[in-house]
Amino acid sequence: MSEDSVEPAELKRSDIMQIEDDRFTADNVAIVTGAASGIGRATAIVLAENGLTTVATDVDEAGLDGTLEKAEEVAVEGEIHALPGDLTDDDEMDAVVEEAAQLGDIRFLANIAGMQHIDSIGDFPMDTYDMMHQVMLRAPLYLSKLCLPRMRETGGGVVGNMASVHGHYVTRDKVAYNMMKFGIRGLTRSIAAEGEGENRSFSISTGYVKTPLVMNQIEDSAESRGITEREVVEDVMLGQARTKEMMEPVEVGNLFAFGFSENARHLNGNDLLWDGGYTHTYE
Ligand code: NAD
Repeated sequence: MSEDSVEPAELKRSDIMQIEDDRFTADNVAIVTGAASGIGRATAIVLAENGLTTVATDVDEAGLDGTLEKAEEVAVEGEIHALPGDLTDDDEMDAVVEEAAQLGDIRFLANIAGMQHIDSIGDFPMDTYDMMHQVMLRAPLYLSKLCLPRMRETGGGVVGNMASVHGHYVTRDKVAYNMMKFGIRGLTRSIAAEGEGENRSFSISTGYVKTPLVMNQIEDSAESRGITEREVVEDVMLGQARTKEMMEPVEVGNLFAFGFSENARHLNGNDLLWDGGYTHTYE
């Protein structure tokens, strides 16, 4: 790798934050969506390493196998169970939650699955909008609806939702993504409002994270703009940020673990904006 290129993320056990928490035990279950890739995969591995029985769910079964392989390579402490499911299908989500409940008490839910589509409002395909809405907003609500009563029965739990800097401000040609990320912050607050201090919720907003999706965009942009990969990251993607390094997926996984832990017991309905100064500063 030259210093102009950008290295892909490599999850190492030593990068995982270890948190002491009475509820991070094998009889408690965390469900993680989007767990076949990127941030979801890293989060599932972080939660398992912290001792939770972790359910990794995704529509991409081969990707889930990759998550299990990575977990084995890292030698995580807890168990990861791959339960495939499509977030556009209520029956499949019912089945995932039912199976997860057989493994222990569902205490934590991480809604991470998502997708992007770039088009102006005038050209935006409505069937793509409908799909993004189903995966990125309706499914997080439906899974919360299934899990929150179970969490309450066992003494309370936490829902963590993956938002973005696009849940704080927006860029052009990403109308559906912007709407979903603002929307997920609304779901987060609604869960807090109804949680009566027993069930909590929080969201996480980051700028660019080194996931396969973003790494491919870097390569393509470097080629089409005739600049180096590093210039794409520093000048184009993170041009507005003060920190010129993208986050690693494992760092986002660590934030989920922190948000789920008792250290974050006063974090309820709000957002962890980990954006390297992107949103609130400018030069
Ligand atoms: P990714 O593409 O690597 O992973 C997304 C996962 O969602 C995939 O494994 C995919 O199979 C799954 N998924 C899509 N449709 C599904 C469906 N119908 N049912 C079940 N699973 C489905 O993406 P990522 O970069 O890891 O992003 C994860 C989340 O983080 C997304 O919500 C994204 O918006 C958000 N996010 C990403 C970045 C970034 O820079 N990568 C920054 C901020 C927020």
